[in-house]
Amino acid sequence: MSDPTQADAPQGTAAAHSAVAIAVEAMNKTFPTRRGVPDVIAVEDVSFTVDYGRTLGIVGESGSGKSTVARCLLGLTPVDSGRIEVLGRSIVDAPARSLRAWRSEMQIVFQEPYESLDPRYHVWESVAEPLLLHTDLRGGELAGRVHELLEQVALSPDLAGRYPHELSGGQQQRVNIARALATSPRVLVLDEPTASLDVSVQEGVLRLLLRLQQELNLAYVLISHDLKAIRAVCERVAVMYLGRLVEIGPTDEVLSNPKHPYTEFLIGAELSVDPDVAPAARVVRGEVTSSQRPTGCVFTTRCPLVTSTCHESQPPLIEATPGHDAACILVKPESAASDLSGAV
Ligand code: ADP
Ligand code: MG
Repeated sequence: MSDPTQADAPQGTAAAHSAVAIAVEAMNKTFPTRRGVPDVIAVEDVSFTVDYGRTLGIVGESGSGKSTVARCLLGLTPVDSGRIEVLGRSIVDAPARSLRAWRSEMQIVFQEPYESLDPRYHVWESVAEPLLLHTDLRGGELAGRVHELLEQVALSPDLAGRYPHELSGGQQQRVNIARALATSPRVLVLDEPTASLDVSVQEGVLRLLLRLQQELNLAYVLISHDLKAIRAVCERVAVMYLGRLVEIGPTDEVLSNPKHPYTEFLIGAELSVDPDVAPAARVVRGEVTSSQRPTGCVFTTRCPLVTSTCHESQPPLIEATPGHDAACILVKPESAASDLSGAV
């Protein structure tokens, strides 16, 4: 198995000269709805980068646009506007043929392991399929690579003849990860990869993903509801609300020193299931309502700290501490010596 590093990124591209594997700038995606109902703004003005060998976590409630970001990132859903570069190639407006050819280097693992597998293929066929599509490996070489992939995801070769319905959820997801890894991708997008698995197997899958990242220097985008998983895997985390990125920064810093009331709410919601921890100080009510998008800041309808100014315009992301940005009028650059905790 080769050990890809940034040095063997596509030559003659930005990726060949920097550590950046994914660069997204001002991504916008709207879905039309039936007549008379405003379009759904699924993603609005989202920007981030991910380096080789690093993981960006994306968190946010259901409907906040996480999966749309994931799909747009890999060209599975076309964006309305914005710049997306993966491995130094522009995804926006790339012909379908190019996207298909590049697919082997940028893969996605979805939440539902069973639905992602073809029920007619047993494990060996499932893992061999992407190799047959994207490589010239045949015969003994093909068998060798399938064997190697099963080993990489810690699946016993005894399972090679089993069909998806004969596997546990954790085993099914390992098959999906083996399929995603088959063509030696450089970028892996993981859309809630452990959400449908038992807690007992979630940790094993996350450990596997971490090990593979270290071995293969992969860039990950990990979408998850589970802040514990985000803490364990991601160096950086982005928080989405109603299609917008409201906070982004180093995971430890964002989760221990949140600058946006919505991030604080997510952390509080996680803690509130722990009986030993006091409930969140500030109560955020209601649910994400993309059909009633507020004017001004997207969080005004639920924000416990809302003021009249918040209805005027959407605050931009402001760097609160180095590399840690949040989009709230209460956030001031650290030099201005004011933050959320001082605002109440
Ligand atoms: P998340 O993954 O955070 O739950 P999604 O990206 O799936 O969020 O959805 C964001 C918003 O876009 C939601 O309001 C959802 O209903 C809408 N949406 C997503 N995909 C489509 C689609 N194909 N057609 C219409 N609306 C969609
Ligand atoms: Mg989703």
